[in-house]
Amino acid sequence: MGYQVRGVFVDGKKVYYRTAAEEGERHRQWVADEKAKKQAEAAKNAPEVDARISKLPQPFQDRIHAFRERNPEFRAEFESYELFCCEQAVVISGALKTPEAIEAFSKESYEAQKAMVPGIDDNHSGNTFGFSIRLAHLLASDHNETIKKSHGAMCPLVGCGTYGCYASSPEANAARAAAEYLADAEQNTKDRTWANASDQMSRKRK
Ligand SMILES: [Zn+2]
Repeated sequence: MGYQVRGVFVDGKKVYYRTAAEEGERHRQWVADEKAKKQAEAAKNAPEVDARISKLPQPFQDRIHAFRERNPEFRAEFESYELFCCEQAVVISGALKTPEAIEAFSKESYEAQKAMVPGIDDNHSGNTFGFSIRLAHLLASDHNETIKKSHGAMCPLVGCGTYGCYASSPEANAARAAAEYLADAEQNTKDRTWANASDQMSRKRK
């Protein structure tokens, strides 16, 4: 990020200066303005975006609605990115049909991929492209529950909590805690079994 210039002196004369507090206030205002801009933009685009979402396969619709429920900022901040990946997943899955074909496709060069699926958008980043292929694979495999719960397209970039990902939901935390508890209990049982066995061995030796 570098450092911010708060003051400039020309010929010993101060021409521009803000205190750290003023700078902090300016930054807060800037963040608030950006957020308001994004929200206004999302509200303006909502009818068109909702129409696009309603054309997605049901598991993708469920997925997007779940993000919205977990994160009130999702629409304004991340939805267009997620929607782009879902739409591209539909294109890829529609062209290639099977999980095996999608897996083979994922290992091809970009030129070959474009020839195999002409509907691939030219504006992909590495992240959106990889993510679209992953979603396409899940869609072709009918892994609908996984589609609903797997990570968001931008999770690797902003973190699950910020995105509104299932992985950071109270439900997922409870499920993880339960799984850890069971694994722990199982390990305890193994430890006890081993302790009993070695106990008996040492008693036999005596
Ligand atoms: Zn995530």
